Amino acid sequence: MLDSFNRTIDYLRISITDRCNLRCMYCMPRGILPLSHGEILSYEEILRIVRIMAPLGIRNVKITGGEPLVRRGAVELIGKVKRTAGIEKVTITSNGVLLLHYLDDILRAGVDGINLSLDTLDGETFGRITGAGTDGPAAGRAFFSNIRSFLDRAGNLPVPVKINCVPIRGVNSGELAVIAGLAKNSGVFVRFIELMPLGCAAAFEGVPGREIAALLETVYGPLEPCREKPGNGPASYYSIKGFAGKIGFISPLSHNFCGSCNRLRLGSAGLLRPCLAYNTGLDLRALLRNGETDEGIARAITALVAEKGQGHDFFGVPYSPAECTEMFRIGG
Ligand code: SAM
Ligand code: SF4
Repeated sequence: MLDSFNRTIDYLRISITDRCNLRCMYCMPRGILPLSHGEILSYEEILRIVRIMAPLGIRNVKITGGEPLVRRGAVELIGKVKRTAGIEKVTITSNGVLLLHYLDDILRAGVDGINLSLDTLDGETFGRITGAGTDGPAAGRAFFSNIRSFLDRAGNLPVPVKINCVPIRGVNSGELAVIAGLAKNSGVFVRFIELMPLGCAAAFEGVPGREIAALLETVYGPLEPCREKPGNGPASYYSIKGFAGKIGFISPLSHNFCGSCNRLRLGSAGLLRPCLAYNTGLDLRALLRNGETDEGIARAITALVAEKGQGHDFFGVPYSPAECTEMFRIGG
């Protein structure tokens, strides 16, 4: 699929649930009023959408949430999406709490890559950022220790692991060099994502990618831009001498990357969004449940892609916070 700005759209992010076992301060700190079972798309509905979109040109699928692994059957869904004709890669983004538990099953299902969201290596800061421990400190410690155990295996897995860290000034900004250091001895990639002012995240200050790059250079030496671009996302990657893995920066605020955007986002209630900065899109759930044919749905998706806007601008027109919503609803 080509949009009207000549961008190839071949990547679909699917939020399979709005629920999560963490309460990140910039995402859903007070929890959510979860959608009911009937409101979210069933796996059959998700698979039908994937089967319709693959012939339109979708090649890569990311399974995300909320926390995808809290929805029963997520592993089987990964396998089924992976076996859909035309789909080449299926990856997952997880907060890591249940990753180790499901790791062997996810690998058997054919996952092509794992993104682990990890904002801190400090247990206390983990509790502060994620709210883990609100059910009792022991629960928080257990969650953190699950994540650390996954990290211990991350460098030796048969698929690439990317660690995503959202730096927040005054919260985890003092440990970014240590987090980057995870890419030194194992081949994992560490990526720093600029905090986007979506929903409650607007209350916090992120750290620009260039500031982190300057910090890392003082600690580890020069960052060399990578010629080849690993993955299908908007990250810019760098090598550091002596590092087995790469360092990446995803900078939606300081380096708008809309010009190379290749993605659509399917929310758990079936809204297909062409851009995360707007709360508008195509209500696929209504089409599916009102008896629309596959051809009719494909036509509606093609029309949505043709209308995909040029991009977001978090600092002015045409972005409006009232129009967007938190990442867990969008398929972040
Ligand atoms: N629960 C899973 C996880 O945390 O990886 C998947 C969903 S989560 C919404 C996906 C990613 O979005 C996480 O890496 C999270 O840190 C990031 N995220 C959430 N809100 C964000 C924001 N306002 N700006 C930038 N990244 C954000
Ligand atoms: Fe859950 Fe991910 Fe949101 Fe954190 S960022 S609350 S782990 S969905």
